[in-house]
Amino acid sequence: MRKPVLVANWKMNHGPSDAKEFMRGFLTRHKRRMDRTVIFCPTAAAIAVVAEAAHGRPDILVGVQNIFWEDKGAYTGETSAPIARDAGARIALVGHSERRHVFGESDLETAKKCAAAARAGLTPVLCVGETIEQRERGDTNDVVVRQLRTGLSMLESASVSTALIAYEPVWAIGTGRTATPADATDVHEILRANLREIVGAKAADIPILYGGSVNPSNAAALLSAPEVDGLLVGGASLEPDTWARLCSLDLPS
Ligand code: PEP
Repeated sequence: MRKPVLVANWKMNHGPSDAKEFMRGFLTRHKRRMDRTVIFCPTAAAIAVVAEAAHGRPDILVGVQNIFWEDKGAYTGETSAPIARDAGARIALVGHSERRHVFGESDLETAKKCAAAARAGLTPVLCVGETIEQRERGDTNDVVVRQLRTGLSMLESASVSTALIAYEPVWAIGTGRTATPADATDVHEILRANLREIVGAKAADIPILYGGSVNPSNAAALLSAPEVDGLLVGGASLEPDTWARLCSLDLPS
């Protein structure tokens, strides 16, 4: 059994002041538990505040929602992996569906971002997932396998073995529509089989998270599904009480 990983993706919500207030509320509700890891991905501007609040809590890590693939230079508005790390991030989301579908990020760009994250000592969480049209055409497996293989293509095996993968069907993100636990398992099994082909069985033993309209009512069922090692949560991570409830659930052992 892999240790469950629960990731909050705040998207473009909670600036530094809100984030500080959020963490005060969350930390009083969710006491240290080493049987799970909780990761916060705030906006880049709030990374330092969240990292400071989580200081002394080894069960909590901070991530950045997006990075650029160059380490420094004339790239106005971008955040590099070394800068995110300096601010307190240890994790980097890469290829989130909103990056791919709102900002047009390509598979090759996700590969460069995974490589930049690893270079700077950030753990990439590579997000993959199909649109509803792709699912209805029966293309889900082809899409997620292509995103997985290209996204990891610039990483050494050693870096793949410390990465995380998140399966997030685009049609489930922020829609209130969730994949069934069985649907999630089907895709996670395909991803795991491909990871084994890419890096071998031992190195492929990395967490594969599910994301898409997860909330405290459906989280336990999803986490009980085979090959679902954690959750990536947007909307239900935005309020400290709801997120603390989700993080404090009894998890399958
Ligand atoms: C996400 O932002 O990755 C996500 C899964 O959002 P939501 O939980 O709101 O569907």
